[in-house]
Amino acid sequence: MEQRKKLLLIVSLVLITGFVTTSLTSYYISRSSLREEIINSELPLTSDNIYSNIQKDILRPVFISSTMVTNTFLRDWVITGEKDKSKIIHYLAEIQEKYNTVTSFFVSEQTRIYYQTNGILKKISQGNERDKWYFRVRSMKSDYEINVDPDMANNDSMTIFINYRVFDYNHKFIGVTGVGLTVGAVKGLIKKYQKDYDREIVFIDKQGRIKLYGSNIFEKVKNIAEIKGLSAIADKILSTSNGHFIYKRNGQIFHLNTRYIPEFKWYLLVEKTEEKATRSIFNALLINLAWCTIITLIVIILVNITILYYQRRLEKMAKTDKLTGTYNRQAFDIVISQTLKDIQRKKYDLSIIMFDIDFFKKINDEFGHLAGDAQIKNIATIVMNLLRDSDIVCRWGGEEFVILLKECGLDEAYKMSEKIRKTVKKSPITYQDREIFSTISLGVTQYNPLEEQDDLILRVDKLMYLAKEKGRDRSEKQG
Ligand code: GH3
Ligand code: MG
Ligand code: MG
Repeated sequence: MEQRKKLLLIVSLVLITGFVTTSLTSYYISRSSLREEIINSELPLTSDNIYSNIQKDILRPVFISSTMVTNTFLRDWVITGEKDKSKIIHYLAEIQEKYNTVTSFFVSEQTRIYYQTNGILKKISQGNERDKWYFRVRSMKSDYEINVDPDMANNDSMTIFINYRVFDYNHKFIGVTGVGLTVGAVKGLIKKYQKDYDREIVFIDKQGRIKLYGSNIFEKVKNIAEIKGLSAIADKILSTSNGHFIYKRNGQIFHLNTRYIPEFKWYLLVEKTEEKATRSIFNALLINLAWCTIITLIVIILVNITILYYQRRLEKMAKTDKLTGTYNRQAFDIVISQTLKDIQRKKYDLSIIMFDIDFFKKINDEFGHLAGDAQIKNIATIVMNLLRDSDIVCRWGGEEFVILLKECGLDEAYKMSEKIRKTVKKSPITYQDREIFSTISLGVTQYNPLEEQDDLILRVDKLMYLAKEKGRDRSEKQG
């Protein structure tokens, strides 16, 4: 491969490798730090925040319910036979008003009557699907539960109930009391988190049943075991109080933070897909790579231009004579042999002139070498100005020149030779305020396609010496 192409290839490889490595490294570092951020900071923080907000919202009702349980009026009223119903209703209404809850209720074990702030709601029965909660609470071991159900007294709007078990003074179970608060507030909070931070938030109970959610994807499912991806880790989630999981759902990678909230006996699940978060750094990677490509291209173009420039300069320097700007002997050898080959095919006339400056030693002796150089340059310039672009001038030796005249017969060449001679004769150089005139002696001949290159040179050389012999400042031609 050409040296230049090799160099360009190496330069581009180095640049591309460098750029791609740094871009990819920074991409992977950003991505892994983003993951770290999601795992160690974002999700736990969201979880903390939701927890503390929900605590604010729910723990207060839990506390209120707990005071209802220990209320002596309530217990006394039940123990004495639930006589004046208006009293209990008044009491419940008072609680609701005082604490600004959605509802406040008491269900009696003895009479199975459901009392609430607006009066007696109904009588509950074991067979009724909507009353099952009571029997669950009745037989449960802990003091209370938090349950999300539609509230019959409030147009079936979703309500978080705090269901507290009530005992008499002899620890006999006498009913369930508590308050309800609207899910709206909590849901609003969850939705805000989902919207602002692209996080899914869901509450599940100890069995994995979905209790509260912000996203539609949980609307149709009742248990996390029904969700693809989550089902495989459901057991693990339900057996750790604080966990971090990575799982795949619908082709996306999710980071999941779980925490058990003992007050509710629920798990809070906060999850986030990493795709959205990493998209921006992926875009940054693409932009980086695009810039790298542009920069690489620019550098390659610049390097190429520079190489070509110096290559041409070197080639020119190798071909030309430094003092005169004409071809040097090596370049001329190539050009003349190419021209002679060309003539074998194309058949055109070629003439050659050889000339030498007369009494040049004298100039050197009288004015010095610099003056001699100036005269050589002067004469070369005169010759080049008189010739056509297709003609070739070569500095053959010290102050000897050879000229190739393409598509030029002997007569025309002789005319040119004389023109050169006369022009040189009347074109002196000025050196240290003195004019130095020179003459030249020239030999002219036409190339015969049957002869060798050396024969042609020899003949023109001889003609030039003949011109010298015949008194100099003249042209000698031979057909
Ligand atoms: P003639 O008319 O017979 O050609 O006489 P001449 O004095 O010109 O003799 P000749 O051509 O043999 O000598 C050329 C001299 O030119 C010899 C050398 O010292 C001088 N010379 C050769 N090359 C250079 C050059 O590059 N610069 C200068 N200043 N002198 C050179
Ligand atoms: Mg000479
Ligand atoms: Mg000479």
